[in-house]
Amino acid sequence: QTVKEPKPDWIRIKLTTGDNYQEIKSMMRSKTLHTVCEEARCPNIYECWANRTATFMILGDICTRACRFCAVNTGRPTELDLQEPERVAEAAENMGLQHCVVTSVARDDLSDGGAMIFAETVKAVRNRLPLCSVEVLIPDFMGNWDALKVVMDAKPDILNHNIETVERMSNRVRAKAKYDRSLELLKRAKEMQPNIPTKSSIMLGVGEEWDEILQAMDDLRAVNCDIMTIGQYLQPSPKHLNVVKYYHPDEFAKLKEEGMKRGFSHVESGPLVRSSYHAHEQVKSAASQ
Ligand code: SF4
Ligand code: SF4
Repeated sequence: QTVKEPKPDWIRIKLTTGDNYQEIKSMMRSKTLHTVCEEARCPNIYECWANRTATFMILGDICTRACRFCAVNTGRPTELDLQEPERVAEAAENMGLQHCVVTSVARDDLSDGGAMIFAETVKAVRNRLPLCSVEVLIPDFMGNWDALKVVMDAKPDILNHNIETVERMSNRVRAKAKYDRSLELLKRAKEMQPNIPTKSSIMLGVGEEWDEILQAMDDLRAVNCDIMTIGQYLQPSPKHLNVVKYYHPDEFAKLKEEGMKRGFSHVESGPLVRSSYHAHEQVKSAASQ
């Protein structure tokens, strides 16, 4: 199953590059830091960077996994860089970020999956920018819950872990991950720190059915997940998973409604929504719960 038509109008990206965007872009070049905004070719980069939100990728830019939707390179990861937390914090400070998202490739080669570097990065950003909210978007640490605890003990403002797709499509989309393990991670994170909002995301258009999306929402609510983001999958290259369907903005709006009915504190749902899109607003809405 492949979609042959060109991308619908609502997928096209508005090319508005504000001053903040240019400033942040030159900052990224000079610090040799990796951002998901760039690596994943995120369609929201101009808007987010102009709004002082950016997503840093720590632990290198080579992933031990090869999910079929993802544009990140797969291979043998680089050495651990213990200075990385400080460099991220310094960049976040120079950019005057208001919301800093920290994520990583999957580092299944490390015993703690990189949890310690996550925790140190949260602390380093906090030290320099006490008012900046810090969201971590973590891998599943292969179910190492001690590693999860190290991250939770650093008290990020949001704990984000993506289920990425509905249960039936999980194997096809992210072979080395497990739907149940991801749900368990969210459940345990909440048990460890009940006051820290948890968040998860799915992308649509890889072959899921409507009812399966609603089921994924129910599954997330069953583990007390607070925030959900829903976006359209876009094929990063012809080698990646095909797009089976482009959802209409009205369908995204309907899903937001379905999510809010189920009790999420915030649902961000739209064609160009990505995991960290409008993330600074989610911190506020979660905090007011
Ligand atoms: Fe970066 Fe996330 Fe915004 Fe995309 S949605 S540009 S990854 S901060
Ligand atoms: Fe991409 Fe994350 Fe999958 Fe690695 S684990 S291939 S970074 S989605």
